[in-house]
Amino acid sequence: MHELVERLYPLCRSITGDGVRATLDIVGEYLPLQRHEVPTGTPVLDWTVPQEWNIRDAYIADAAGHRVVDFAASSLHVLGYSVPVSATMPLSELRGHLHTLPEHPSWVPYRTSYYEPRWGFCLAQETLDALPEGEYEVRVDSTLADGHLSYAEHIVPGQVADEVIVSCHVCHPSLANDNLAGVAVATFLARALARERPWYTYRFLFAPGTIGAITWLARNAERIERVRHGLVLACAGDTGSLTYKRSRRGDAGIDRVMAHVLAASGRPHRITEFTPYGYDERQFCSPGFDLGVGSLSRTPYAGYPEYHTSADNPDFVSPEAMADTLAVCREAFSVLDRDRRYRNLSPYGEPQLGRRGLYDAIGGRSDAKQAQMAMLWVLSRSDGDHGLLDIAERSGLPFDTVAAAADALAAAGLIKA
Ligand code: ZN
Repeated sequence: MHELVERLYPLCRSITGDGVRATLDIVGEYLPLQRHEVPTGTPVLDWTVPQEWNIRDAYIADAAGHRVVDFAASSLHVLGYSVPVSATMPLSELRGHLHTLPEHPSWVPYRTSYYEPRWGFCLAQETLDALPEGEYEVRVDSTLADGHLSYAEHIVPGQVADEVIVSCHVCHPSLANDNLAGVAVATFLARALARERPWYTYRFLFAPGTIGAITWLARNAERIERVRHGLVLACAGDTGSLTYKRSRRGDAGIDRVMAHVLAASGRPHRITEFTPYGYDERQFCSPGFDLGVGSLSRTPYAGYPEYHTSADNPDFVSPEAMADTLAVCREAFSVLDRDRRYRNLSPYGEPQLGRRGLYDAIGGRSDAKQAQMAMLWVLSRSDGDHGLLDIAERSGLPFDTVAAAADALAAAGLIKA
């Protein structure tokens, strides 16, 4: 995952353009992708697909022709969606187009202007402070023209057509935790799921933030009623502890599963209520859709000083943290996939477990007592209204133990899904 982050890091992504396509090309080496290109001007819900932005070069050069700020060194140096410019001007005039972070003088900020035609540069405060007054050449070799918005999907087929969507944004340039770590975790999560033949069909969405999710929702009206659960992955690789943000519904299946898995794992974590800000849960949970989509991150957006700066680089994300985020996703989806409601087919008095070999089946296990309790709990609660996660929560037993008990009871013909 870290290697993937490092490969994607230099690319100049934005909400449209060749940086997104190059990103999807690389992700496509790991996963087969369905690619989509949606023309500029396409109405999508209350929005319109914007013009496509591409950039080849950008710099500020001093009178001697020396590049003092150079897009080739970092994609963050140019204001995202900058209109083209080619001019010479005094530093006093140029300052109005420069963005710095005085509180972190060695860091370059990340800034965009998607919906207002502007040009600008982002640079370290200490670089700016070192510039003498005088004339500077500024050049942004970009195009803003009718084109397309690009996004991609990867589907892991399940045993049922009901879907779980996993979404991550691919619109930030050289920022590692805020976009690339989520892309890397989603990519390896899809690969892991593909080996397991899951219950649900898992749809992975690699799309630019906001406009990409809105475009997907606008083009998938018929599919939305099949979406049972969803997870937005963002800020998935910093060394902070995990944060799960509930769906707008607050008690959706994914909300209960994530809360259970995080608590049962003993990991330090935080669970926060839904807010109409953050990442694409904003779109999936808008009241017209109101999907059961939560968001998993480590330190949430804007919660760390490196957020939206050049300090959010591949060194800021760790392989261990991404592996930990991936492990929690796999645990959660494993619970989501096995959570079923059963009906006790022998509900009058306790059925005789010994006669059916069910005590023998668990006798040698080190957790034999727990396994036996799990059978009694599953039998007791399987009235068709309570699922296995309900039973795990009510009994305090691990979900895996409860699910294993249900498997044994179902095999013995005592319960039926
Ligand atoms: Zn961001």
